[in-house]
Amino acid sequence: MTEQRRIILDELEKTCRHPSASEIYERVKKRMPHISLGTVYRNLEVLSSRGMIKKLSMPTGQKRFDAGREDHQHVRCLSCGRVDDLPTQADENLEAIAARVSDASGYRRLGFAVDFYGICPGCAGETKKERQ
Ligand SMILES: [Zn+2]
Ligand SMILES: [Zn+2]
Repeated sequence: MTEQRRIILDELEKTCRHPSASEIYERVKKRMPHISLGTVYRNLEVLSSRGMIKKLSMPTGQKRFDAGREDHQHVRCLSCGRVDDLPTQADENLEAIAARVSDASGYRRLGFAVDFYGICPGCAGETKKERQ
């Protein structure tokens, strides 16, 4: 792995905030001042095509990145694009749903992805303020 790619992966693993390519670029630039956004983006694409990180497509078309930790679900804010990991206790119920789906369909289950959408506490606070 190249030094650039190692640092990009390292910066992504340090955060659970699901940064966009430009946010990762800002972090990586502090360690490699001459790196370009294009280089960061290309390396993120390579890492995700190798399954080392996850690429999350937002409804807005923006892409955010997640270090390839164990499987987990996401909840996304439709207002600001923030993405949070769901607490693991939610996953047991999802497992049960996934098992029922594979029983009913006869498919061998390889995995599943569930996306939750909403308004994050930060954005909910702002709309409350605007109304007052
Ligand atoms: Zn928000
Ligand atoms: Zn995540």
